[in-house]
This record gives sequence, C-alpha cells and structure tokens, in this order.
Amino acid sequence: MPLQEIMTRVAAAESAAGRAPGSVRLIAVSKVQSLDRVEAVLQQGHRCFGENRVQEAAGKWPDFRQRFDGIDLHLIGPLQTNKARQAVELCDAIHTVDRPKLARTLARLAQERGACPDLFIQVNTGEEAQKAGVLPADTDDLVAECRGLDLPLRGLMCIPPVDDEPALHFALLASIAERNGLTGLSMGMSGDFETAIALGATHIRVGSAIFGARTPATPV
Ligand SMILES: *Cc1c(COP(=O)(O)O)cnc(C)c1O
Repeated sequence: MPLQEIMTRVAAAESAAGRAPGSVRLIAVSKVQSLDRVEAVLQQGHRCFGENRVQEAAGKWPDFRQRFDGIDLHLIGPLQTNKARQAVELCDAIHTVDRPKLARTLARLAQERGACPDLFIQVNTGEEAQKAGVLPADTDDLVAECRGLDLPLRGLMCIPPVDDEPALHFALLASIAERNGLTGLSMGMSGDFETAIALGATHIRVGSAIFGARTPATPV
C-alpha cells in the first residue's frame, strides 16, 4: 500500500478521534526490507523509520543519513545491554527500555555523551512469557527509576498478544501512562493502527502495510 494511502488513513483516524492533525507520528518499520524499498519511501519525503535490531540498523542507516537530512530513527526491538552504546549512537529514540539494568546503562551513556535518545518503556501488557517488556505491575517502579536517573522518558510502548483484542491492551497502556504522567504512547501496527489512534497513540509502528510483506516473515 503506498505511503500516501497510509498517511491518509492516519489523518482520517486522527480526525475521527477528535485529535489534532499531525499528533500521531508514523514510524515506517523498515526491518528486513530491501534498501531499494526503504530508499523509495525516503524519496517520497518520509523521514521517520523504525528498526528492531541494532546490527541491522547499523548496516543501513549511517549511509542513508549521509544522503538524506532529517532522518528520525527509532529502535523498536529488544535491546541487550552490550549493544546499548551502539544503539544510542545510531538512534533518536528507543522504545524498548524494560529493566533497571538497561536504564542504568543508558543513564551512564547519556552522562558520558551529554545526550540521550528519547525513551519509551516497553510494557508486556499481555504478560506473555516469551515477550520482552516490564510487567504492568512493575511499570510504575521502572518509570520512577528512569526519572531518578534523569532519563528523557517520553512514554510507554506495547505489542499486544497476536490473538487478543488489541484495544484492551492499548487502553491498559494508556491508563498506566496516564497515572504516571506520561504523554507518549507507542502502540499500533499495520493491522490495528487506527484502533491505537482512537485510544491515544502518539507513535504508530507500521511496517508491512507500507513496504509490503517481509520475506522471510519474521516474528515481531
Ligand atoms: C515489525 C514490528 C512492527 C511492524 O509490524 P507490521 O505488522 O509489519 O506493521 C511494529 N512494532 C514492532 C515492535 C515490530 O517489531
């Protein structure tokens, strides 16, 4: 589906939810896509992208940054502590802070560099054993920890279980954010971004609807 069509759907969803035009940031998730497909989206003027692996991001984005101004790169996949340095050097935002140790490492790097990407805490709203993210019950403590470390915490992120009604998870995430005074909500993907916008998403992560199916299909 062309980028333009997705942008039209985002605008319609903003309007239907009574939200200001442009209040939702569209992160084009370019993981596993060919460089040609990514470049085509850059050529259309889009600048906000998401990757889920640091290694893969390092392989393509430094080059694109040299050729295109204003790129805004978001890490949306799990982050190992030993890749944190590379992640903060490459990315403008990290959506997957999910444990105190990672928060402390990011704080140390931030102090060293005098800069830090915008951060989101990933919440495992479905409490799935195999999924990354802090449990809902532990989220307030991690928010407090990040604030204590002076990290630029912008909001929360979730990936609902595949077989659940996503709206329940989006509403849960929004309520945890609200009670913590956080305004950023990274939620909604190709199949459910309109629902996410209706429930307050500020950042939607849309891959296959923009770029076409990923081959081979990779798990989220
Ligand atoms: C791959 C991925 C997406 C995009 O998924 P689509 O269904 O292709 O839109 C969104 N969020 C995360 C965390 C992902 O890994």
